[in-house]
Amino acid sequence: MQGYIINVSKVREEDLLVTILNQKKVKTLYRFYGARHSHIHLGYKIDYEAHPTNKDNLFQLRNVSSLPYKWMLNKEKFYVWQQFLQLLYKHLRDINEIDEFYYNLLEKISLCIEKENPYRVIVESYLKLLNFEGRIHSNFNCFICGNVIEHNIILVRGFLPACKNCISKRGFDAKKINTLFKEKNSILLDDEEIAKLYTIILEGL
Ligand SMILES: [Zn+2]
Repeated sequence: MQGYIINVSKVREEDLLVTILNQKKVKTLYRFYGARHSHIHLGYKIDYEAHPTNKDNLFQLRNVSSLPYKWMLNKEKFYVWQQFLQLLYKHLRDINEIDEFYYNLLEKISLCIEKENPYRVIVESYLKLLNFEGRIHSNFNCFICGNVIEHNIILVRGFLPACKNCISKRGFDAKKINTLFKEKNSILLDDEEIAKLYTIILEGL
């Protein structure tokens, strides 16, 4: 089986709980023996086997080999990728069975991030995620007062739109955000605006 490691946590001295997202599930597996963990890192894509243990619902992670991408050697790209996977872990934490969409999204990010600005890739991918989950607010009504937002749009967590009377924060050009929301394309936004959108994503998916 193949999947992405979206969380790693230590248990006892050297053992690990490793959460893996594959095409159908988000599953946490038990990994024995700390000394042999060379392939277990947040963000790695791995090939692995899940073996049952004598405890119900607990599977052991075995025969792990990593499937590395070249761009993972780029510290900044790898860090941005790891941050996104941690957010995804929190977002999907209470879900076991998932739609293939999430795995495919990670596959696409892994391909695009090699050549593109990693923050831009994450912003566009987040739009795809919001779209899949039916959470894009493209009508631009302020979520607090309900007024229509015309020029300057404030975005908060989940890219919820607000007007400048309700939230005092630097906003975005509504036309640019409209294109981003409708076409999932960030072409109108410069790197500084992308960085600002990225920090909103960091608040939580
Ligand atoms: Zn308002």
